[in-house]
Amino acid sequence: MMNRAEEDYIKVIYELTIERKQELIKTTELSDHFGYTDQSVNEMIKRLESKKLVAFIPYTGISLTKEGEIIAIKMIRAHRIWEVFLSEKLNFSWENVHQDAEMLEHVSSPELLDRLYHFLGQPKYCQHGNPIPDLNGNLEESAHLRLTDAQVQDTFKITRVLDSKKLLSFLNEHHIKLYDEYKIIKIDSFTQTISLENKSKKHQISMNIAKMLFGYIVV
Ligand SMILES: [Zn+2]
Repeated sequence: MMNRAEEDYIKVIYELTIERKQELIKTTELSDHFGYTDQSVNEMIKRLESKKLVAFIPYTGISLTKEGEIIAIKMIRAHRIWEVFLSEKLNFSWENVHQDAEMLEHVSSPELLDRLYHFLGQPKYCQHGNPIPDLNGNLEESAHLRLTDAQVQDTFKITRVLDSKKLLSFLNEHHIKLYDEYKIIKIDSFTQTISLENKSKKHQISMNIAKMLFGYIVV
């Protein structure tokens, strides 16, 4: 049996591995992420290692074992299915689904999740554009190209955003939505801003924000 904290660690190791495109995660990255001390992170890693869910190479980093990865995928699947349910059926806004999904993912039986998944029409992505693993645990690759990777004159389609409350509230304020397309008008390295527009909107956003928006160049 696993407790909630253990499940959260497994999930975060998986997510950081994907997000940072790293094979190994350092314990300091976990302490930064959770805001815990290095000592408590180290204790947890030892515990997960003894359960054969992670492999730890001192001074190098942590990776999930096959079994750890199966658990991580189950957790993110539950999380994202609940996010779809909360936003599509209960009208939660995208900046407000995270916390409830975070609780629900730990208390859902496999049967409940399967029924929910079918009830929702087997969705492929959550409201933030993160892929939802299918029944066999297979999932599409996450969009990795950042808006900051685009060039002037490119048309960029946003297909994934970082699930951060501050970012999502900013996007709401500026009416920027998932699957919006924008043409890059100007990249200003001095002010660290990117100017974008489409038929109905014009924006100037900071590189910091642009780094949290992912998608592809429309050709
Ligand atoms: Zn999400």
